[in-house]
Amino acid sequence: MPDITSVINTLDERQPYIALKQAKKGGELACDNTSIAGSMSQRACVYSGARVALNPVTDAIHLVHGPIGCASYTWDIRGSLSSDKETFRTSFSTDMKELDVVFGGEKKLSKCIDELVELYNPPVIFVYSTCIVGIIGDDLQAVCKESTERVGIPVIPVQSEGFKGTKSDGYKAACNALKELIGTREPEIKSEYRINILGDYNVAGDVWLVKPLFEKMGIQVITSMTGDATVDSISKSHGAQLNLVQCSGSMTFLAKWMKQEFGTPFRKVSYFGIDDLAIALRTVAEFFGSEEMMKIAEEIIENETRRIMPEIKAIRSRLEGKTAAIYMGGAAKALTLIKGFHELGMEVVIIGTQTGKRDDYKQISYQVKDGTVIVDDANPLELADLIRKQKADLMVAGVKERFLAYKLGVAFCDFNHDRVIEFEGYDGFLNFARELDASINSPVWKAYGSKLRPANDGDTPSESLDLKAENGTKLKSSIKETNKMQDLNTATLHQESIA
Ligand code: SF4
Repeated sequence: MPDITSVINTLDERQPYIALKQAKKGGELACDNTSIAGSMSQRACVYSGARVALNPVTDAIHLVHGPIGCASYTWDIRGSLSSDKETFRTSFSTDMKELDVVFGGEKKLSKCIDELVELYNPPVIFVYSTCIVGIIGDDLQAVCKESTERVGIPVIPVQSEGFKGTKSDGYKAACNALKELIGTREPEIKSEYRINILGDYNVAGDVWLVKPLFEKMGIQVITSMTGDATVDSISKSHGAQLNLVQCSGSMTFLAKWMKQEFGTPFRKVSYFGIDDLAIALRTVAEFFGSEEMMKIAEEIIENETRRIMPEIKAIRSRLEGKTAAIYMGGAAKALTLIKGFHELGMEVVIIGTQTGKRDDYKQISYQVKDGTVIVDDANPLELADLIRKQKADLMVAGVKERFLAYKLGVAFCDFNHDRVIEFEGYDGFLNFARELDASINSPVWKAYGSKLRPANDGDTPSESLDLKAENGTKLKSSIKETNKMQDLNTATLHQESIA
């Protein structure tokens, strides 16, 4: 269990949210609360949570009822890919101005809906509410209901006023919107075994490396929610006999509802890492109770593992003993990453999430070694201090943490929305290993010298974050000398151009 003593110097109210795993000491990590004022949480708002969970529905119109800033903040928020329509990649907003705030935005919203139907003829419009809509009290439900009758397609309200809770509440708002579609069309039955993939957002095409594995096992994947999902496939998802939930933080709510409403059971799985992939395939085969399916699953596991192992072993020899800091939005990804790092010979020294719950942290605590820091809802200064204190060689997190790591002279791997290569499936894990290798073993860190790392406990975070011109000059000349710019962490440089 974590030991709740002062791990780093931070706000007094934040101390219970940061703990050191020590097997012999008790204590429970504080979590699942609203962020502490003044702590500059890395969390996003309720609306943003709804947007990340729902936006990958490819052929839907996602209309943001609010000021333009809310829409631009989340424009193309995930690197989700589509195998067909790209409607979701355009951001639509009612662009509320001062007059709308004073006199109400309902008429403007109705007009916008009419215009979008005329221009795009979409199968559905999701209308997201934002902070200001909650404050002035526009009746989103009523406008959407009236519009549905007028335009003849579902216009679904997403009650995601930014201030009304945490990002997790946004996931629920997205799930509530999806509920309106599920069960509205009859599925075509192509196999006696049918599943839905829930909580996979097809970032960089992840789903396309996972779906074929199930298809090889004779399974029909009705939909993947919401990565590469269409309104049609979601409407038919009640035809599945099993829901596989990967991102449990965002989709367990929907899975539980489908169990209640349609009797569809669910299993929590991960498609990341060799071990978790094998568990996922075996779990499905076991569920259907088919010996033939289990035989195919075992063949896939054996053949695919054998195929990627030579390169994994070579990379492992270069990563062995390196240390990693994990900071994720949800706990499911953090948990599966612990295993992934072990498979690559690396040790996790910091692990944190934005939205983890008590049970998640208990599970995390069981899986990490003594001395690992466990943190909930960290702020950037805490993360910087922890990285220095724990001497992490690499941070794996999302876009908000990327530059924090770079400024500390620490290798970085984006595991969230902004990555451009797949990390799921067997080839995805190989991609992950290659990216870690490229990032950790990049000569750029040697060029930086040791002024930022290793950490000196006496330094203040602001000192460590202060990138001195001297370092920059040293880096530039070193790069020029070696003329190896192309070799420097190409995956990361590619990400930069996309971001
Ligand atoms: S909904 Fe509120 S908190 Fe979220 S982006 Fe808009 S204004 Fe900001």
